[in-house]
Amino acid sequence: MELFLATPRGFCAGVVRAIEIVERALDLYGTPIYVKHEIVHNKYVVNDLAKKGAITLKDINEAPIGGTVIFSAHGSPPKDYEIAKSKNLKIIDATCPLVTKVHNEAKKYNGKKIILIGHKGHQEVIGTTGQADMYVYDDREDNILPKYDSDEELVVLSQTTLSVEDTNKVANQIKNQYKNAIIRNDICYAVSNRQNAVKELAELVDLIIVIGSVNSSNCVRLKEVAESYGTKALLANSPDEIEEDNFYGLLNIGITSGASTPEILVDNFINFLKPSKINIIGTDERDINFTLPVELQ
Ligand code: SF4
Repeated sequence: MELFLATPRGFCAGVVRAIEIVERALDLYGTPIYVKHEIVHNKYVVNDLAKKGAITLKDINEAPIGGTVIFSAHGSPPKDYEIAKSKNLKIIDATCPLVTKVHNEAKKYNGKKIILIGHKGHQEVIGTTGQADMYVYDDREDNILPKYDSDEELVVLSQTTLSVEDTNKVANQIKNQYKNAIIRNDICYAVSNRQNAVKELAELVDLIIVIGSVNSSNCVRLKEVAESYGTKALLANSPDEIEEDNFYGLLNIGITSGASTPEILVDNFINFLKPSKINIIGTDERDINFTLPVELQ
């Protein structure tokens, strides 16, 4: 069996930064450190940091008075920061700068009609909707746009981790109905590059394994993109999460991984599959680095 490895795959700059923030904070301030929401959506990463003393909280109210809290890469609403201040917490912000950019757009356009294309209940959407009044259009359940005047100068933002193609479809639908709509392109470089690589992979293999966690939006989108190109796809963090029958008789298997998936999980799959040959598909992405918060530099 030959293996086809998608490039790029795995950690994006926002995830590298978020993990480094937790590790540096542990070094500087000691344990425990509290993390509001999973720092990134990958259970291996979260468990690894937990062993080092980073405790994940579902709600900022769970943090003890005077502790140190890190806000996750997905972004959080302003009210969470207010609660943290009222509890005298030391706040470290690991929100990805590309999510902060969307927050800044929301604040800039506050007062206009804003439509956020996003998945209701996702942490990033919770964070962005806290920045300004907006209507959330979730393409998994909505198919009717909100009713505004046809010449309304509304603004369209999006969650950073959606499918590029699905989001473009919704944006075009909005543009057709509202000719003055300002469409921002908020899907991030890492998500769009990984989806492009998966499309290439889908042409070559019988099965694509997307390595990552089921609560990772960008991983689920990679699986959906593969399936939309007619290729069977599975999402898992490790081989033991997949029935072995899925691999029998396959000559070509593709592997990719989400922006929050560490490369060790890819190595584990390669060791399990023992391919006769490994082919690299796609091209490396430009090296992007985000600076750390000043207090951790
Ligand atoms: S996927 Fe994109 S927006 Fe999300 S953390 Fe990575 S770089 Fe930032």
